[in-house]
Amino acid sequence: MKDLAENKRSPKAIENIEKTFRNNEGLARTLVGYIDKFYERLRKDFGDFKIMDFCGTHEWTITHYGLRSLMPEGLELVAGPGCPVCVTPSHYIEKAIQLAFEGIVVYTYGDVFRLPSLKAVKGASSLAEAKALGAEIKIVTGIGDAIADARAHGKESLFLGIGFETVASGYAKTLLSEILPNNLKLMSLVKLTPPAMLATVEILSKDDKLVNGIIAPGHVSTIIGAKAWKAVVDRHKIPLIVTGFEPIDVLIAIAEILKQTVKGEARVGIEYTRAVSWDGDLKAQEMIAKAFKVVEDGWRGIGFLPESGLRISESYKKFDAFEEFKIPDLSQKDLETDLPKGCKCAEIVIGKEKPTNCPFFMKKCKPSSPIGPCMVSLEGTCAIWARFGAGGLADRIAEDLKLR
Ligand code: SF4
Repeated sequence: MKDLAENKRSPKAIENIEKTFRNNEGLARTLVGYIDKFYERLRKDFGDFKIMDFCGTHEWTITHYGLRSLMPEGLELVAGPGCPVCVTPSHYIEKAIQLAFEGIVVYTYGDVFRLPSLKAVKGASSLAEAKALGAEIKIVTGIGDAIADARAHGKESLFLGIGFETVASGYAKTLLSEILPNNLKLMSLVKLTPPAMLATVEILSKDDKLVNGIIAPGHVSTIIGAKAWKAVVDRHKIPLIVTGFEPIDVLIAIAEILKQTVKGEARVGIEYTRAVSWDGDLKAQEMIAKAFKVVEDGWRGIGFLPESGLRISESYKKFDAFEEFKIPDLSQKDLETDLPKGCKCAEIVIGKEKPTNCPFFMKKCKPSSPIGPCMVSLEGTCAIWARFGAGGLADRIAEDLKLR
C-alpha cells in the first residue's frame, strides 16, 4: 500500500490527516490507501465516481474535517437532501407566522426560527421577524419544553414539528401517552427519508448524473433500521452503507462502497453497528405507526413524493394543529414557486449543484443573512460550506491538491 506522501498529497493534507484522525491516524492512512487503490481499479470503467452523503450531519463531517481533500481526483462526494429545515415548504412557515400574529403561541427549534419564508406575512419573512414584530414565538429544544410552558400559561399554542424519523418516535410517544395539554397542538411536518433517497437517485439518473454509491444516514437508521434502504439498492444496484458520524466512519464507508463496486456487488452495509441494526427500533416503529398516518408530502426544491410524510392519525386528531387551526394543504403551485429567484437550493439538495456555484453564496446570502433555506440550519449544505468550506480549511487543501 502506498504511503500518503507517495500519493503526492500536499503537506497540508497530511497535516490535516494527523489533526483530524488524532486517535486513528494509522487506520485513516490505511483507508485512504484502500480508497486510492479501489478507485484506481474503477477509474477506467467509471471515470468520475459519485458518492452521495444523504445526511446533513455527514456533509458536516466531510466538510468540517476536509475529507474531500483526501479523495483521489475523480471521486466526488456530493450532499443530498438530508436537512429537514431545507426541505420544509415555505407554505407551512407562512401559516405558522400567520397563526402567531393571530395570537397563537408558536414553539419551534432555533434553526426553524430563522428559516426565511418566501412570502412576507404582515411584514414578517421568518418566525424571527414575526417575533420582532410582537408575535409570541418561543425557541425550544424539544416538545417536552413546549408542553411544560404551554401548561403553565394556558394560552392556545402550536408546536412546529419539523424533522425526520428520529424525532417522530418522540412525538409518537407524546401523542400515545396523551400528555399534550388541551391548549397545545402538534403541527407534524415530519418527513420520511427513504422515499426522498429513491427520488433523488432517480432524478439524478434521468439527468445522466448517476450516483454510484450512498452514505446513508446513521441517526435515522437507528429508528427505521438498515432494511429501510434495501429498496434503493435493489432498484438502482448501487452500494449503500449506513454510516456513523466520526470522520473515520465516513472513510470506512467510502472504502466499502468502492470495494463492493470493484467486486461487482451492491448491498446494504452497516458501518454504524454501534447504533444501527438491520431491523431498527421495532418499538419506536410500532409507536410511529399508531400515532401517525403516512401521507404524500411536499419537499421544498424536490416536489411531492408519495408516502414521504407523517401526519397525526385519526385516533389522535384532537392533538392535530392541522385540524384545530384549519391549516390548508400545500398546493402544487406553492411547491413550484417555493424558492427565492436565483437560489439554487433545488439543485443543491439533490447534489446536482454546489453552493459555490450559486451567485449569491457568501455575497448576498450568508449564515447571518440567509436568502435560501440551505443557508440556515447546521445541516444545510450552503450553511456548512459557508462555515467550513468557502475559504476554509477544506477549500484551501482542495486548492492545494489542485482538485478544483
Ligand atoms: S447560497 Fe443561498 S441563495 Fe444560494 S443556493 Fe444557497 S441558500 Fe440558496
